[in-house]
Amino acid sequence: MVYDLIIIGGGPAGAAAAVYASRKRLQTLFITAEWGGQSVVSEKIYNWIGTTSLSGNELAENFKKHVLANAESGENKSSTLKIKEGEKVNAIEKNDAGFKVKTETSEEFLTKTILITSGSGRRKLVAKNADRLEHKGLTYCASCDGPLFSGMDVAVVGGGNAGFETAAQLLAYCKSVTLLNRSDTFRADEITVLKVLKNPKMKAIKNIDILEVKGDKFVEGIVYKEKATGKKMELKATGIFVEIGQIPNTGFAKEPDWDYF
Ligand SMILES: Cc1cc2nc3c(=O)[nH]c(=O)nc-3n(C[C@H](O)[C@H](O)[C@H](O)COP(=O)(O)OP(=O)(O)OC[C@H]3O[C@@H](n4cnc5c(N)ncnc54)[C@H](O)[C@@H]3O)c2cc1C
Repeated sequence: MVYDLIIIGGGPAGAAAAVYASRKRLQTLFITAEWGGQSVVSEKIYNWIGTTSLSGNELAENFKKHVLANAESGENKSSTLKIKEGEKVNAIEKNDAGFKVKTETSEEFLTKTILITSGSGRRKLVAKNADRLEHKGLTYCASCDGPLFSGMDVAVVGGGNAGFETAAQLLAYCKSVTLLNRSDTFRADEITVLKVLKNPKMKAIKNIDILEVKGDKFVEGIVYKEKATGKKMELKATGIFVEIGQIPNTGFAKEPDWDYF
């Protein structure tokens, strides 16, 4: 069989696409490693409109219920949507029909089109204790966790637009925000940099290497080295927000003749 569409990924984007593909009666195969996507680990999500708060697990369950209700195995017996869950795509090849999608369990599916909604992961801070103190004061999502640090001194790692926009969010309720930047120049737009740095609660430190996150049970500070002097410094902070980029989960779609995408 040649599908009209294969959707890869069961986060918010893939789940929404699956429901719509079913409603449009496209012969669709939905393949996901897991349901829910990145925020499945969140204790509480406060900005899912229409629901005051829910956990990442509840959100994942809701996605699953909604997609399955539109699948051939669900309420809609004439549905054109098939589901493969717990399955990871590991390669895509060009084929006469369009594409061949291969999974880690060596299954192969043919399709005319592919929608890649496999999301991304955060580039992680490489420094002593950064892993151990993740979710214990060190976080990768200000819109999720920021309000928990109200009235506190916090640090933002990263001087791109994401770093400065995170700082701008945090300035609304944190006591102070210190942005730490690896190089001597900021990658963020100048207008954003100037606006954020104008705030008297804001400070930026440039040209440093982060060495260590301090803290026993929770984050207490961050240690960095000034590149110019080699001096080791410590900044007290109860929250650290890391904004050093995203890595797309698209390794399976890398082909030498990438152009056909
Ligand atoms: C800890 C945390 C908390 C967050 N909390 C919030 C919040 O409170 N509010 C908010 O608005 N945003 C929050 N976000 C951001 C939000 O989760 C993302 O913006 C959103 O999940 C992106 O959705 P997506 O569908 O594009 O991709 P993802 O959520 O990344 O979903 C990707 C999906 O693809 C699957 N997948 C990946 N690779 C493959 C493969 N090779 N084969 C098959 N399946 C694959 C994964 O299993 C997953 O189901 C949070 C993010 C994190 C990390």
